[in-house]
Amino acid sequence: MSQEGNVTMEKIVSLCKRRGFVFQGSEIYGGLRGTWDLGPLGVLLNNNIKREWWKMFVESREDMYGLDAAILMNEKVWEASGHTGAGFSDPLVECEKCKRRFRADHLENKEVCSECGGKLGEERDFNLMFETKVGAQGDVKSYLRPETAQGIFVNFKNVVDSMSPKIPFGIAQIGKAFRNEIAPREFLFRVREFEQMEIEYFVKEEDWKEKFEALRADIQKWHAHIGLSSENIKEHEVPENDLAHYSKRTIDFEYNYPGKGFDELAGFAYRTDHDLKNHMEASGVSLEYVEPDGNKFIPHVLEPSFGVGRAFTAVLAEAYTEDEMGGETRTLLRLPAYLAPYRVAVSPLLKNKPELVEKARNAFSDLKKEFGNVAWDDNGNIGKRYRRQDEIGTPYCVTIDFDTIEKDDTVTVRDRDTGEQVRVAVGDLVNYFREKFNS
Ligand code: ATP
Repeated sequence: MSQEGNVTMEKIVSLCKRRGFVFQGSEIYGGLRGTWDLGPLGVLLNNNIKREWWKMFVESREDMYGLDAAILMNEKVWEASGHTGAGFSDPLVECEKCKRRFRADHLENKEVCSECGGKLGEERDFNLMFETKVGAQGDVKSYLRPETAQGIFVNFKNVVDSMSPKIPFGIAQIGKAFRNEIAPREFLFRVREFEQMEIEYFVKEEDWKEKFEALRADIQKWHAHIGLSSENIKEHEVPENDLAHYSKRTIDFEYNYPGKGFDELAGFAYRTDHDLKNHMEASGVSLEYVEPDGNKFIPHVLEPSFGVGRAFTAVLAEAYTEDEMGGETRTLLRLPAYLAPYRVAVSPLLKNKPELVEKARNAFSDLKKEFGNVAWDDNGNIGKRYRRQDEIGTPYCVTIDFDTIEKDDTVTVRDRDTGEQVRVAVGDLVNYFREKFNS
């Protein structure tokens, strides 16, 4: 939608900073490349995305189990998964003159440095894992996990033993992942610390195709649910010769990012029994699934994997709109109500009239009790408040004015997208919004 207009990444980044969504990491010390901090409104949007994902993929289903594994894991996990080897490296080249480093597969000119014109050195593998030391002696090597998936595989047996799930079933996890990307760039798109929402879905080998299609449809539903329009999503079928050696089929879900074009938003791979088999061999612990009739096998795995930051960026890009209202250009975020940082903002028409403020305070606290993320806004005049709330995507503004206290106990409810205003009785407000948000 917004891609037809004049949305740019610069405008989104600027709005994010100005309105408290995203700040540069360690900013007052000059920053730390590849890190970003979520501000007060960013946390709300980010949490809303994760909550909706969890609701859709875990809570609303009977075949999904949640997990929250440790970020630090035994180094043997990463040896078994192949992450310590070349499998988790990117090709790096360094300029012999200015010493800048580049990801070779992202370079157009492989000979000459794009920054200083110097000669580029030999290509070498660069492992993306952050190494760390554990314990007071510092003698136990570990890594900051580069994906949440392995935490799921190593807990497969624990979940099976404690929950007795019937196959097919999935284990889902949301959490931080760390990759020492050679060239972090493009806002939240490629960073060194990010969040993933991942599912390992365990199936019988003969069922993988059917379940692949079912999960693929669920992923499409998810992207529609967070407001991404189908013309801005492309499913890229990874060609056979580009597939990881263990994968028989992978689809990258790509989003049409402003100024960048289509690039990965989420990945979906059929990983065969590769992961459980490797961990079984390396740990010596059986990771077979036993059916009630005694039949034993290593389940095959389907893996939908989502980056929260990339979803966050896509949601903002899709919602960002500039239009004209009352003869003025305005910026608004057309966020679905369940993603908006605040669902409602409440204002007294004038902040120096105690009777208006008291009435507004009461409405505010009733709404806040019911919906949580409700804003109190009494800065500037009412027109400015509406613009400010439009810009952060608040779907409704409630204003308490003189009619409320002198006439009929009704308030103005203003709609973000249309600017339309209706009068609603104070006593009906909670129900009014309950209905709006449920529809
Ligand atoms: P890319 O090809 O863009 O590097 P990938 O194929 O290595 O991504 P996966 O390992 O499949 O990514 O990770 C799953 C998801 O995690 C990606 O679809 C993306 O949303 C997110 N992700 C991966 N790396 C990063 C990163 N450095 N910054 C932000 N998100 C990331």
